[in-house]
Formats: sequence, structure tokens, C-alpha cells
Amino acid sequence: MTSEFLRGRVALVTGGGSGIGRACAVALAAAGATVHVVDLDGGSAAAVARALGGRARGALAHTADLSDPGAIETLPDAVDILVNSAGLQHVAPLTEFPPERFTLIQQVMVTAPFLLLRRVLPHMYGARWGRVVNISSVHGLRASAFKSAYVAAKHGLEGLSKVTALEGAPYGVTSNCISPGYVRTPLVEAQIEAQAAAHGISPGDVLSEVLLARSAIKRLIEPEDVAAAALWLCGPHTGHLTGASLPLDGGWGAN
Ligand code: NAD
Repeated sequence: MTSEFLRGRVALVTGGGSGIGRACAVALAAAGATVHVVDLDGGSAAAVARALGGRARGALAHTADLSDPGAIETLPDAVDILVNSAGLQHVAPLTEFPPERFTLIQQVMVTAPFLLLRRVLPHMYGARWGRVVNISSVHGLRASAFKSAYVAAKHGLEGLSKVTALEGAPYGVTSNCISPGYVRTPLVEAQIEAQAAAHGISPGDVLSEVLLARSAIKRLIEPEDVAAAALWLCGPHTGHLTGASLPLDGGWGAN
């Protein structure tokens, strides 16, 4: 496998301004792909595209609110690799969960991937090649209390990914989920206070008593490790891997 095995391929990474999305954008660009970095936070998307060498090196930033179907219509459709990474979290008991927050999480984490698939699959089908990488979660396969919207959305994304795999197969398009446990990103750092309040413990105890309690490996995953799995899914040896979930969960699912 040459180091630039994705030269000539075009990738679109949602949530590409931060965390796992940013790590995926970096890995795909390093393998030679043109990368569209899409994020609600236009400043961080622009910073990532700049760090990847900007337009001259095929890295372009797009500011888009993925909860807005109209914004999705403005994004490129000639895309060979779609990485759905944009996401958000809200931690609260079901009885106190704000309905508008529940709806927003479904819009960003299920409806937006669906609308993006509608947009990019015709190009992939025409090219007889495509890779869809959905950044799901251990919460696409398992539940945790106080995360109704997130768990529902990730289970939905896992289902959407499997349907994409079935419909895409005749056209050389694979679709898979990567389903990590807790990854060291701003999304996790931001929920430590909320987890402490919901579980009635101190923020210092959240890592060991909540986040890593069910993981056999007692450390956070690095975003680069998730990106390496995403890159492998786009490589030359994974054409038969489709409709699957890669559980980068430190043994959580084995427990
Ligand atoms: P992050 O907060 O670092 O990045 C998420 C990005 O999504 C941000 O840049 C944010 O601006 C963007 N985003 C949020 N709402 C958006 C919207 N409406 N439109 C466009 N962009 C929007 O978080 P992360 O940890 O890198 O999360 C990336 C993905 O990985 C998410 O889908 C998350 O559910 C999943 N995941 C994260 C972990 C973890 O522990 N961090 C574990 C499993 C799965």
C-alpha cells in the first residue's frame, strides 16, 4: 500500500473542526485525499483546513449547521469518502430531558447523515467506489443511563449504516461504523461536570467511576487511534468489510 493511496479521492468529514473528525481529516489528507472539512464552528474548520495546507493542497473548510437541511444542500456532492463525525451530547434523566435537545441530537446525528448519503451516494454509485465511515459509539451498541437522545441516535446511525451497506454493495460502496468507548476530545471533557451532577459524585471521580467503569482498558482512547481505523476502512484491503461495527471500546462490549 503506497502512503498516498487516496490520491485522487475526495473526502467530506463532518465535525472536522475538532476531536475525532479533525483526526480523520488529518489522516485522510496525509493519505493524499482532497478533504472537505465541515463544521458548525467555521473558525475551527478553517484552522484545520489551513493546517492541512489549504486550498492549494486540496483542503477546504465549510461552515454548516447540520441540523439545517438547507445547509446540507450547499455542501459538495462529488464525494468518494463520507465520514459522519459531527455530534453532541446531553446528559439528563429521561424525565428531565429537554425535548428540543432530543430532537436536535437526532437531527445532527441521524437525519444529517441520511441527507448527506442522499447527496453523495449518486456520485459514489457512478464511480463504482465509495466509503462511508460513521463515527458511532459504544452507545450505538449499548446503553447508559441519562443519555436517551445520544443512545437513540447512535443506534439509529448503526441501522442507517447497515442499510447503506446493503444498497451500496452492488456499486462498490461500503458502509461501516466505528464504535469507540470514551475518546480524549472536547465532547468528553465537556460532559464531566454534567455526569458528576447526574450521578451525584465529584467531577474527579467521573473518569474511573462512570466513563471507564465498564471498559477493561482503563484509559481514554486517542482520536488518532479512531482515525487510523477510519483510514484502514478506506484502504485497499477492506472491500469485503461492510455493514459492520468496529468496537474500539477497550473491551466494554465483552463485559
Ligand atoms: P468534538 O466535540 O470534539 O467534535 C464534534 C464536532 O461536531 C465539533 O467540532 C462540533 O462543532 C461539531 N458539531 C456539533 N454540532 C454540529 C452541527 N449542528 N453542525 C455541524 N457540526 C456540528 O467531539 P468528538 O468526541 O470528536 O465527537 C465526534 C463524534 O464521535 C461524535 O459523533 C461522537 O458522538 C462520537 N464519539 C465520541 C466519543 C468520545 O468519547 N469523544 C466516543 C464515541 C463516539
